[in-house]
Amino acid sequence: MYIQEISIEIKKNVDRDELVDEFGILMSSYRKSGQTQGKIESQYINEHEIVCLPYTLEKDSLDEKYNNFYVTRGIKKVEEICGSKFEIKLVGQYKDDFEPVCKCKKSEYYILITNYLSISSPITCGTCNNYVPLYRLPVYEDHGYVQILNWETNYISCDSLQMNCQVGERWALNQMQEIASQLSKQGFNICRKIEELTNTPTYYYLHNYNKRNGYNLSRPCPSCGENWGVKESVHDYFDFKCDNCKILSTLSMKS
Ligand SMILES: [Zn+2]
Ligand SMILES: [Zn+2]
Repeated sequence: MYIQEISIEIKKNVDRDELVDEFGILMSSYRKSGQTQGKIESQYINEHEIVCLPYTLEKDSLDEKYNNFYVTRGIKKVEEICGSKFEIKLVGQYKDDFEPVCKCKKSEYYILITNYLSISSPITCGTCNNYVPLYRLPVYEDHGYVQILNWETNYISCDSLQMNCQVGERWALNQMQEIASQLSKQGFNICRKIEELTNTPTYYYLHNYNKRNGYNLSRPCPSCGENWGVKESVHDYFDFKCDNCKILSTLSMKS
């Protein structure tokens, strides 16, 4: 993960409210296009410039080759308001043990997975187990990857509730581990759409926290009822994998 600085000099007399609004819309477009990570980034305006410091997965995530129509339009609008051009520079690496990004030519399969701490991509590669930046996927919909990001926000909200324990813990846990929950259904729909777009099988990660049989590798696949325990953990993490239903899961209490 990297931190970038996106800045623009204010060379004209501007309506500052309009500038802040348009700048905000542009940052939101960068997020929807999968080019920036996380939802809240440092942002400030002073006499001479407006600046934002977003996280990105790669050094070149903000390269214009990844810009969609809305990002390009947003850049143009803010540049017109300010009478100058944007400058983008890499500020630094977020932390030492940052996760690498998938470089596979062709992934064997993808996995839709996130957790309450993650600001990385919710798609990982089944071949190398690294993150797949959303902008590497084909165009998902006009505005970018909003539906995938909405699922991600919903999942993180549920995971936060179950981590905090006091409010809606059981409900949130069920959303995460029941195959027919609204959250799982939303996730499965995304998996099917990604498959359609990429011709790559896309697995859904189903959380598992079940005190009764969660430790047990012989628990059947919750969708087809077949045995889905794997002999050797996939990527040292997943203990269950059903290739019929395209679901992955872990033994209970693993994370
Ligand atoms: Zn890969
Ligand atoms: Zn199954």
